[in-house]
Amino acid sequence: MSIELYRDANHACLMFTDLVEEDEQAVQSNQFLIVDHGTGAVIDPGGNLAFNTLLLTMSKYFPPQKLSYIVASHADPDIIAALDRWLTSTPAKLVISTIWERFAPHFTKVGKTTGRVIAVPDAGGKLPLGMSELWLVPAHFMHAEGNFHFYDPISRILFTGDLGVSMMSGRQAQTPITRLAPHIPLMEGFHRRYMASGKILRLWVKMARRLDIEMLVPQHGAPIVGQTAINEFFDWIDTLSCGIDLFDERDYQLPTARISP
Ligand code: FE
Repeated sequence: MSIELYRDANHACLMFTDLVEEDEQAVQSNQFLIVDHGTGAVIDPGGNLAFNTLLLTMSKYFPPQKLSYIVASHADPDIIAALDRWLTSTPAKLVISTIWERFAPHFTKVGKTTGRVIAVPDAGGKLPLGMSELWLVPAHFMHAEGNFHFYDPISRILFTGDLGVSMMSGRQAQTPITRLAPHIPLMEGFHRRYMASGKILRLWVKMARRLDIEMLVPQHGAPIVGQTAINEFFDWIDTLSCGIDLFDERDYQLPTARISP
């Protein structure tokens, strides 16, 4: 289903959830569409499971021929596995980190990406969208080596990809988080294993606190809404031990356990 995160006369942000409901082996994912003055961008549009529904729903807001960008936080399968179909059905360009520019063509037929990839340098930038612009904000190693978050200055939504993810499904994944504490058990395991290091999280928090944010919207689970919950999230992430901080010699031993086939 689709949820309007923001709408005014010329601008809208939509979130699509549970498009992969029919396959319970696949992790619940959110996909996003930003529309400004009749043109649009999809953010982290997902794999083949989500493609049909997303394209159909998008067509209610504007023709697929008006899609300017496929914006990808990183290059995981739940982000751009359906890239070939998006490049076939729309004239959109893929916007992705320079780190992944030459890996993305592996998702498509030969030559499909020629002239259709906008490679974003590590410093990020501001991408024109309709009469507005989408900020491509550095979020490297959270979790991918080349990784961006996307800030929409009109709705004041920061789309955070795999940061802020909580493991939930169905209605729970659509209910905004307004206090963080009850959700930490759904977030902690993921962030400890997927986020690269505490240093990176602290650098990100320092930068993100300077943005005027109404909503943090991750790619899995529910949006984090309002100043209270957003500040609680910043405080939590600022001191979290994660990733390489937690690994030591015990984690690098030759294997002994037999994996049952
Ligand atoms: Fe990922």
